[in-house]
Order: sequence, then structure tokens, then C-alpha cells
Amino acid sequence: MGKVDRGIMIALSARLIRSGRYKKCTAAEWEEAQKYFNGRCAYCGKKDKLTRDHAIPANRWNLGLGAAGNIVPACSDCNGGAGKGHKDFITYCREIGKPEVITKIKQFMKSKGYAPLVPFVKGNAKQKRIEKLMDEASEQSTAIILKHVEQIEKIINKK
Ligand SMILES: [Zn+2]
Repeated sequence: MGKVDRGIMIALSARLIRSGRYKKCTAAEWEEAQKYFNGRCAYCGKKDKLTRDHAIPANRWNLGLGAAGNIVPACSDCNGGAGKGHKDFITYCREIGKPEVITKIKQFMKSKGYAPLVPFVKGNAKQKRIEKLMDEASEQSTAIILKHVEQIEKIINKK
């Protein structure tokens, strides 16, 4: 995920949490999430050092928030690049042959009032519009940064 995408995701999360639509994943919420999955990896069930995973990834296609209900415990194997990586939980659960986990995670999300921001269907109309906006934000940010870098260079080069 690029820096602009990351910035947009952070701002979007903050706004939606501030508005009360989503709950912040506090230390207490993280404890509850671990309890919900019996202190085990939500995906493979391994009892291991648990890390916070975005069940719905925080990228421009999925818009997963760092909010209560979307943060689930995962072992380092499942959370790492060789495991779930940037995939959504549905894709990953199908990959590892654990379709029953999809229902469990969906129930967990529901219990925390977490509703996905965009549908999971690839190439969905909302997703396409958001992707276009992300690209525009990226182009415009790059242009603004370049303009300022040029001005900074002028100051540096002034004798
Ligand atoms: Zn695991």
C-alpha cells in the first residue's frame, strides 16, 4: 500500500470512529477478540503468539478499518506474507480449507457492529470509483510535493 493510500485509510478510520459508526480497537477490545477465538489464531486455531490481523485488509480495494470487529488474533504464520498477507479473510479461509471459519469471523464482526465498507465482489462499481479517487489523490499529492521540493531546492541553492 502506498503512502497516500495509507494516509487516506488512517484519516477514513479516524473519521468513522469519531462519528461513532465504528468502535476503536482498544486494549480491552483486543482482549475480547482473543477470548472470542479462545486465545487461538482465528484462522488455523494454533495456540501461538497472537498478532493483530485486519480480517478485511486495510487497502484501497477492501477498506478494512483498524476498528473493533475487524481486528482478529492471528499466528505469525497466518499473519505473515506467506500466509494471509493482503488477502481478505474469506479468500484466505478458502485457501487453507477452513470455510467454517468464515462464518465464525462474520459472527464476530456482527457482534462488534462491524460492517464492511465495500462489497467483497471484485470489480464492484463502488470499488472502481474509490480506486479512481485513490489514484487521483496519489497523482495530486505527488504534484504538490514536487512543487514544494522545487521551492525548497531554490532556497538551498541560493547563495
Ligand atoms: Zn494461524
